[in-house]
Amino acid sequence: MPPPPAPSPNTTLIPNIEVGLPYLRTGTPADRFKALRQKIINAAGFDFLSIFGDMMRHKNFQTSEAGVANKSRHKCGDAFDYNQGDPRLVVIKDLRDGVTYFRTYLRCEKQDGTQGELMAPNGGSPKFYCDFTSIAEAFGWHRIRAQRGWPNVWKKREFWHYQLTEGYTFDQGMQLLYGDASAVPLAPELPTVKLNDRDDETVFHNSRHVRQVQAQLYVLKLLQPLKEVDGVFGPKTQAAVSAFQQTKGITPTGIADTDTRRKLLEAVL
Ligand SMILES: [Zn+2]
Repeated sequence: MPPPPAPSPNTTLIPNIEVGLPYLRTGTPADRFKALRQKIINAAGFDFLSIFGDMMRHKNFQTSEAGVANKSRHKCGDAFDYNQGDPRLVVIKDLRDGVTYFRTYLRCEKQDGTQGELMAPNGGSPKFYCDFTSIAEAFGWHRIRAQRGWPNVWKKREFWHYQLTEGYTFDQGMQLLYGDASAVPLAPELPTVKLNDRDDETVFHNSRHVRQVQAQLYVLKLLQPLKEVDGVFGPKTQAAVSAFQQTKGITPTGIADTDTRRKLLEAVL
């Protein structure tokens, strides 16, 4: 069946996926989605990002269903809901400052040590898993918190939702797709982050630039353990940035400037 028509000229068709509206906003969201999809194929051994609960939603989509926002990033074309029915998924609760998030791991197709890392995220005997959440964050996709009331309402868990907003508000995102895109100030793609910077995770549409840098360093094994990926640029992150810069022959400033960030992104591809 041919895909449905593009909802906006500023969207890109995502090929060979199962979802009602297989489009993402053209530019960074669509590009990074493709990169993430390929990375997960390599890391987990299967095309996890080929089936979705949801991807893009039409601009007039409305619902009164609990846990589904009418001002959803899905309308902006910079969010996806992965396939929560995949039997290889392991999802664990991740409490941060009293806020509930979830982490996602994928049981690797090959269990011979050529894919993933040996771990037991859910207890039991260790198996080789791909750390989906860290890899997604390294590409700039970030998860969102579970909504209040999540233990009683499945839709509020949101562990399947990842977004890459570039920092655009909902209204800006809609304008990029359906209004005068030139009137929206261009978001810096890889802005500098440095010591004492921190992500403001209380704002839904904010990018998580510190976390992205930390997740990249974590995936590259320059920043450990996982709890260091916390959205707060401290001395350990600074030292890890310096270590990365040294491997690339750049002056080790410990500042993740745009050039360093470009190289970090290339390194995790
Ligand atoms: Zn969603």
